[in-house]
Amino acid sequence: MAEFFVELAENETGAHVVHFATCNSLPEATRLKYLGSIASYDAAHKKGKGLYHAIQPCPSCAGQYAGA
Ligand SMILES: [Zn+2]
Repeated sequence: MAEFFVELAENETGAHVVHFATCNSLPEATRLKYLGSIASYDAAHKKGKGLYHAIQPCPSCAGQYAGA
């Protein structure tokens, strides 16, 4: 399990970026919505999709996705 956050604001492409809680480039807490403790990145992505129409993985913590 890992903890995930999604950014409240859209990025330049109109998507909401999903981060691991441990991401080095995680924005401040006021700019994030907590998604929960989730089994995999794919599951977190699906949960984000339920909130926002466009979801994007964070490029900074993308390297961790395979192990999550
Ligand atoms: Zn990230």
